[in-house]
Amino acid sequence: MTSKVIVIGAGATGSFITHDLASRGFDVTVVEKGNIIGGTSGRFHGMLHSGARYAMNDVKAAQESIADNKVISDIAPFCIENTGGLFVALNEEDLSFQSKFENGCKQSNIPIEPLSIESVLKEEPFLNSSVKAAYRVPDKVINSFRFITSLLLTAKRESAKVLLNTEVSEFIKEGNDVKGVKIKNNTTGQSSELKADLVVNASGAWASKLIDEKLGIKSIEMILSAGTMAVINRRFTKHIMNRLREPSDGDIVVPFFNDSIIGTTAFIVDDPEKFDVDKEDISFLQKAGSEMLPILANYPVYRYYAGVRPLIAAGENDDSRKASRDFKIFDHSATDNVNGIISIVGGKLSTSRIMAKEIGDFIGNKMGNKTESKTDKIKLYWPQINSENIDDMAKSLSLSKGFLSEIISESAGKTYSDMYSNAMDLLYSRGLFS
Ligand SMILES: Cc1cc2nc3c(=O)[nH]c(=O)nc-3n(C[C@H](O)[C@H](O)[C@H](O)COP(=O)(O)OP(=O)(O)OC[C@H]3O[C@@H](n4cnc5c(N)ncnc54)[C@H](O)[C@@H]3O)c2cc1C
Repeated sequence: MTSKVIVIGAGATGSFITHDLASRGFDVTVVEKGNIIGGTSGRFHGMLHSGARYAMNDVKAAQESIADNKVISDIAPFCIENTGGLFVALNEEDLSFQSKFENGCKQSNIPIEPLSIESVLKEEPFLNSSVKAAYRVPDKVINSFRFITSLLLTAKRESAKVLLNTEVSEFIKEGNDVKGVKIKNNTTGQSSELKADLVVNASGAWASKLIDEKLGIKSIEMILSAGTMAVINRRFTKHIMNRLREPSDGDIVVPFFNDSIIGTTAFIVDDPEKFDVDKEDISFLQKAGSEMLPILANYPVYRYYAGVRPLIAAGENDDSRKASRDFKIFDHSATDNVNGIISIVGGKLSTSRIMAKEIGDFIGNKMGNKTESKTDKIKLYWPQINSENIDDMAKSLSLSKGFLSEIISESAGKTYSDMYSNAMDLLYSRGLFS
C-alpha cells in the first residue's frame, strides 16, 4: 500500500521534500498556511550559493552548497541568472583571510579564479578602486518564486496534493502516535482532518514552536536569526559582490534583476512573525555596501525587508553568525517518544535538494520504500509562455498583455513582494493550484 505523508510548510525545504517523496511514489500532501514564498524563502538574499561564503568555517555546508548549485542550475535553469560572484579584499585585514579562504574553497571543491586588479576593475567599474585582491566564484542569483512554484507544479504532476492558505492547527494523536493533522483553510475558515502514516515538519522558523505548543515536543532547539536587506533600485555590477572576510554584517551586494540588494544583518528574535527592523540597520547596510561599491551611497534605499534564518542551536553558543548553516533531521520517536512525526531544521535554500534527498532516504528506510531519489535528474516544470502564444494566453486569462509579460519576464522578479500577489492571481486563474 502507498504510504501517505503530510508535509507541513511549502518553503524551499517543504516544497523540495514534496517533490522528492512524490517522485519516489509516496502519496504526499503539502500544507502551507500562507502562499508561495510567504516564509523565509521569500525574504532571503537571492543567492544560489557557491559555498565560498561558508568555506572558511563550515565545510559541510560549503560542500553541500556547491553540489546543489550545479544540480539546481541544471534542473531549473529558468530561475537562475549565472552572474558569478566575486570575493574582494579592500584592506590589509581582508587580505589576512586570503589563505584561509583559498584553503577552505579547495577543501570544499569550490573552484575559484584569482583576478588581477586591472581585470576586476575592467569587469566591475563601480568596484572600489582601492581593491587589493579579488577571486571569482560560481555564485548565482536564484528567483525563489519561480523555483518553489516549479517544485510544486512538478510535484503536482507526480500526483502530490498542494494545499496553500491552509494551516496545520492541531495534530491528530492516539496515545504516543501522530496519525495526521487538523487543518484550517485560511481563506474560507473551514476546518477538516487529514490522516497520514507520517507527518514531516518542514515549517522553517516555526518548526520548534509548532510541535512544542501542539505536541509538547521540546527536542528541537533553534536560533531564530533575523536578517535585514536594503534594496536600491539600480544595478551596478554583473557579479554578486562578497567582502573577503569572516561572514559579518553588510558584506554582500546581490544584483537582483535591476536592483542591488545589500545584506545582511543578524539579530535574534523570539517570533518569526513579530519583530521590528531597526531603521539604523538600513543606513548601516548602505554604508557597509558602499565600501565595496561607493556609488551605492549616492542612491536612496527605496525598500527594505527582513527574513528569519531557521538555524540549529549549538550548545551555549547563541552567536548566530557562528551557528552552522547545516541541517538536521529529528526523529521524534527516538528523541521524544512520539511516533509518526519527523522534523527537518536548518540548511539554506541553496541546499534544499540535498536536504530533501536525505530526509527522503530516511523516510524510505523507515517506511520500506527503497526507491532512490532521482531529483538530481528531473527537470523542473515551468509553464512556457512566449511571444507566439502570449496574445491567446492573455485573452484566455482576461489579463492585459503588458501585465502578463511583466509577470513572466525577467524584470517581474525584481522585487518578490511587489510581484507576489499579482503572480499568485495568475497561477490561480490558470488553474495551476486549486
Ligand atoms: C536574511 C536572510 C538571507 C538569506 N539569504 C540566503 C541566500 O542568499 N541563499 C540561500 O540559499 N539561503 C539564504 N537564506 C536562508 C534561506 O532563505 C532559508 O534557509 C530557507 O528559505 C528556509 O526555507 P524553509 O522552507 O525551511 O522555510 P520557509 O521558507 O520559512 O518555509 C516554511 C513554511 O512553513 C509555513 N508554516 C509555518 N507554520 C505552519 C503551519 N502551522 N501550517 C502550515 N504551514 C506552516 C510557513 O508559512 C512557511 O512558508 C537567507 C535567510 C535569511 C533570513
